[in-house]
Amino acid sequence: MRQLRNSRSHALFERAVKVIPGGVNSPVRAWKSVGGNPLFIERACGSKIFDVDGNEYIDYVMSYGPLILGHAHPGVIKAVEGVLEYGVSFGSCTEIEVDMAETIVSAFSGIEKVRMVNSGTEAVMSALRLARAFTGKNKVIKFDGCYHGHSDSMLVEAGSALAGKPDCLGVSEALAGDTISLGYNNLEAVEKALRGDDDVACVIVEPVAGNMGVVVPDLGFLKGLREITEENDVLLVFDEVITGFRLCYGGAQDYFKVKPDLTCLGKIIGGGFPVGAFGGRADLMDYIAPEGGVFQAGTLSGNPVTLTAGLTTIDSLKDGRCYKGLRKNSSLLRGFFSEFVQDNNIEACVCGVESMTSVFFTSRRVCDYERARSSDLERYASFFHNMLSEGIYLPPSQFESLFLSTAHSKEDVEKTVDAFSKQAKGG
Ligand code: PMP
Repeated sequence: MRQLRNSRSHALFERAVKVIPGGVNSPVRAWKSVGGNPLFIERACGSKIFDVDGNEYIDYVMSYGPLILGHAHPGVIKAVEGVLEYGVSFGSCTEIEVDMAETIVSAFSGIEKVRMVNSGTEAVMSALRLARAFTGKNKVIKFDGCYHGHSDSMLVEAGSALAGKPDCLGVSEALAGDTISLGYNNLEAVEKALRGDDDVACVIVEPVAGNMGVVVPDLGFLKGLREITEENDVLLVFDEVITGFRLCYGGAQDYFKVKPDLTCLGKIIGGGFPVGAFGGRADLMDYIAPEGGVFQAGTLSGNPVTLTAGLTTIDSLKDGRCYKGLRKNSSLLRGFFSEFVQDNNIEACVCGVESMTSVFFTSRRVCDYERARSSDLERYASFFHNMLSEGIYLPPSQFESLFLSTAHSKEDVEKTVDAFSKQAKGG
């Protein structure tokens, strides 16, 4: 196993923990679930990321999803450089906001009007407020292990960095009490919950779960949710913060042919800059201020620099060719992983769809949070560190997705598979 140089990262982390809680600006970055201190990154290019000690890695974190074209994509960088000289924020209307809204509306079957915000958290928080206002009901059904950002009511049985941890402190019982969390892929549980409760405003779901590791919806789960929600006058909200423009151009709603009432977006639509958006049926979206009585606002919402990076990214995805390449390399990666674990009798389940992938160390098929959590987390931690020492940067937690970008080459995938073969047996 190669010994990594890490003295500069260590020194920076020592400085960081004195002035930043836990040394990080988002918990998963602290490597608590895999152990050790995080790398400090100096720069990144294409599929590669470079730390401050001069180590190079093939990156499968990809900033947790936004960078579908890879790091520092020349087209995105050039476009951003081009707009900077015009000024970075105006607090007033710009043409690019209309361009972005038109682009999103034409891509997503479930979106007729859309509002830009600055994070996925905000998108979900606002969509839920709107769902409550429109239906006049209070409760929200979510699914165990899904993560919808860190607004209070969404931190019940949440995935991502909260996975496996007790529910968040500081959330009032009243707010938590309005959230009903059920097993992913369990339609019966949703039916039962709706039969016994007429105060549910909406069901929110990650159409492919990416925050308990990748968990794919069973055939019929999303269509079933659509039917049950319609029957019960409950809105269906797709949280496509990860899946939007990732599974395919039209997101999970196009991929699975299920049309939600409201959709939350983020990540790719900002091209690596802070972003979020929520949209849906026009009659619903007209409840939002200033048209309607649901207040929602943002100083930097629809920021021209962000939208330039986002639109440039989306433009590159439009003709669909990118998705073919992504699918080919992702299938190759999953195929090699699956074959290797099978041939070597390793208890592992390789999950994924399109460019989202997870490897769980368990003999069971992972279809929900209970199974994801009961996989061998220590084995994942040693897998993470072993792969790192081979120059492969995986998510520092079992409960995040590996993301491929169009910058990942067949050679990158082959190198990753070689490293996997070398390390996986030893654990
Ligand atoms: N929804 C989903 C599905 C996410 O994956 C995330 C973030 N990983 C969020 C919402 C929250 O987005 P943000 O971190 O931009 O607030």
